[in-house]
Amino acid sequence: MYKNETLNLLKTYFGYENFKKGQGETIDSIINGKDSFVVMPTGAGKSLCYQIPALVLDGITLVISPLISLMKDQVDGLNSLGIGATYINSTLSKAQVEERVLDISKDKYKLVYLAPEGLDNINYLFRNIDIKIPLIAVDEAHCVSKWGHDFRPSYRNVNSFISTINPRPTVLACTATATDVVQKDVISLLDLHDPNMFFTGFDRPNLNFKVFRGENKETFILNYLSNKRDESGIIYTSTRKETEQLYNLLNKNGYKTGMYHAGLSENIRKEMQESFMYENLNLMIATNAFGMGIDKSNVRFVIHYSIPKNLEAYYQEAGRAGRDGEPSECVLLFNNKDIQTQKYFIDTSPMDEDKKFQDYNNLRTMVDYSYTQKCLRQFILEYFGEKDVPDSCNNCSSCTNEIELKDITTEAQMIFSCVYRAGERYGVNLIIDILKGSQNQKVLRFGLDKLSTYGLMKKYDRKFLDEVINKLIADGYLLMTSEQYPLLKLTAKSKLALKNKENIFIQIVKLEKSVEKDDTLFELLRTLRKSISVELSIPPYVVFPDFTLKELSSKLPLTEAEFGEIKGVGKTKLEKYGDRFLNLIKEYVEENQIVRDNTTVSSQITSNTVIIKDKAKSHHESYNLYKEGLNLNDIAATRNLSSVTIQKHIMDCFLEGMDVDLDDFIPKDSEGYILEAINKVGAEKLKPIKDELSPDIDYMAIKAVILKHKMA
Ligand code: ADP
Repeated sequence: MYKNETLNLLKTYFGYENFKKGQGETIDSIINGKDSFVVMPTGAGKSLCYQIPALVLDGITLVISPLISLMKDQVDGLNSLGIGATYINSTLSKAQVEERVLDISKDKYKLVYLAPEGLDNINYLFRNIDIKIPLIAVDEAHCVSKWGHDFRPSYRNVNSFISTINPRPTVLACTATATDVVQKDVISLLDLHDPNMFFTGFDRPNLNFKVFRGENKETFILNYLSNKRDESGIIYTSTRKETEQLYNLLNKNGYKTGMYHAGLSENIRKEMQESFMYENLNLMIATNAFGMGIDKSNVRFVIHYSIPKNLEAYYQEAGRAGRDGEPSECVLLFNNKDIQTQKYFIDTSPMDEDKKFQDYNNLRTMVDYSYTQKCLRQFILEYFGEKDVPDSCNNCSSCTNEIELKDITTEAQMIFSCVYRAGERYGVNLIIDILKGSQNQKVLRFGLDKLSTYGLMKKYDRKFLDEVINKLIADGYLLMTSEQYPLLKLTAKSKLALKNKENIFIQIVKLEKSVEKDDTLFELLRTLRKSISVELSIPPYVVFPDFTLKELSSKLPLTEAEFGEIKGVGKTKLEKYGDRFLNLIKEYVEENQIVRDNTTVSSQITSNTVIIKDKAKSHHESYNLYKEGLNLNDIAATRNLSSVTIQKHIMDCFLEGMDVDLDDFIPKDSEGYILEAINKVGAEKLKPIKDELSPDIDYMAIKAVILKHKMA
């Protein structure tokens, strides 16, 4: 009965055509006045389950959320959709709170976000105003349970707060994680009245899981990132020291990176987090202290540099990727010796022995995940208790062919033999020295040149040997001791393999190079999104999510009606930003003489096969005016085209070999800066160069400098 109305609201405000799994039913249940309990994974769209009812129900919906730092973004997001919302928490002054309460009494808002700590005060603040509260949504409801992973004592006030409201509102509890125990706790502690339960399962189909064992982590990260300069990502490390080392390495290699750990001052952490949210930085290196407040929807990858303490923590941290539902990657780099770090944390924690035992078991599961040959998604989902999970997902490193197995039985035997003959008393480097037959002083001093394995692997590359030994350590064939100068030792596994003459395989990772595609328009749209974000002080993904920009760049809408059909474009955003995005797209289409293959304006603008018209005439026309001595702006005015288009025309003529002075594109005094930036980050890609420069230097100027200095 409500479906049509709610679907209309979904389209009008949020710009989406259909509900995601579970949303429609939950919304109906709430609108019918039933308490409801939603267990859906991150990114499944829980917020909409109370935001749409808030629009339908008479009065104000209160949302209780543990994260003060998120409230502003959540409220900004709703306001940008044209939905009246505000928050009251301890970050506001008394005067601000009073002003908001006054606005609440005037029905200015449909949703008010509250922190659990401040609930006592809310009754007092609302004492003199007449408001209806039809619904209370308790976000992150597991925080009420001490069995959950984020117990917050202040959540225990929620129930008594609800009981003071007359008539009792409908209550919705939302969480992404809930074991049976936690669920029962939530129902009882929030006193949910016979709630309707909504589960969608824990799967996040858009996430691609990968486990790589025994990689040289620094090399791996540098390789991996070289494909992903423009994408947002998080790298989790297990210690502050590791965070700082990686941060230094990446900055040295030209990546603008943020860093976050509990040892940094609150101000720095806040600054780092904001830079990441507002996309002044694409990459964040962090310990697990970075997380609770991360609601950025377009994180495209999360890499774990070492194993986390358990699979819950892993799934939660990795799950910060791809909240917008777009394909995203979750990579775990495993090395056997990292287990020691986690063991150390457990050993030195003040927990009782039972809890420690439980933590060891959880760590064991994490290690099993790192070694499993089976589908990684299946492993995770079964761990969370799902039944009938398919054997293959085709979207993890076990199911795809990113990992090749290489038989290294002969090499492994030579290495084991060397470790054994050297008395298991030396580290990796010296073992490699022996195998390579090195004349190194230490080798000679210890008489290691007398061993039968001396020079046995002379013809092998040192880097290869290092890699193989790392992989043998990762796979448990060799042990690296945890002393200051770690020694290599054989393990029960290698002894057994030697005894049984087993074949030994290691993983060779084939990282796919992303295909260079023409994403010029997408980049232009991102730049526009960023300027709007700066103007309005809201994060870029709140202006439009990535999927909206992708759809814009493939469907090329040219009218308001077409723009309104794009996923993520609701009524308010169309009004607020439509013109600017449409102008940019129109200009791009015009500039590149693109003819869309679907000429009819319909509600189903399909993905366009882009046909480039013969543009000889147009750019030559601009060239003729250029040769007549008109400057670029005058040509633009004469031809009624934008100056960006004219720049492009003249540049095309230069590339065709016509007589053009490249200095016309390079603003005075900027050549030196551009050259400096190119020297720093290379000339292969324009975006990193642009990022190094002040925003007024455009792509055309960069291209002109590259061509002028023959750097391409
Ligand atoms: P959760 O709270 O479950 O982590 P969110 O409510 O933050 O998830 O939603 C995740 C993303 O999915 C947001 O970008 C949101 O706009 C988008 N979304 C929600 N509902 C829909 C829908 N019906 N269709 C398309 N996208 C949706």
